[in-house]
Amino acid sequence: MVKLRTVKEWQAAMPRCCLNCDHYLTHRGEWEEGASCKVFGANPPREFVEQANECASWAQLIPF
Ligand code: SF4
Repeated sequence: MVKLRTVKEWQAAMPRCCLNCDHYLTHRGEWEEGASCKVFGANPPREFVEQANECASWAQLIPF
C-alpha cells in the first residue's frame, strides 16, 4: 500500500540548504560562482551551499 504524504510532512522532510532557500540568488538553481545570499549579502562557498540544516535564516521557496 502506498502511503501519501501531506504537504507539511513533505516540507518537514526537506533538507534546508541554500539551494532550496528563497534568499539564495542563482540563475540555474545550483551553486554558481557569483550567486549570493540576500540576507547576508555574501557569496557562500559551495560546501556551505550544499550543507543541509546549517542556517537559521533559511526560508522556504514559494512554489509559484
Ligand atoms: S539565508 Fe542561509 S540558507 Fe538561505 S541563502 Fe542565505 S545562507 Fe543560505
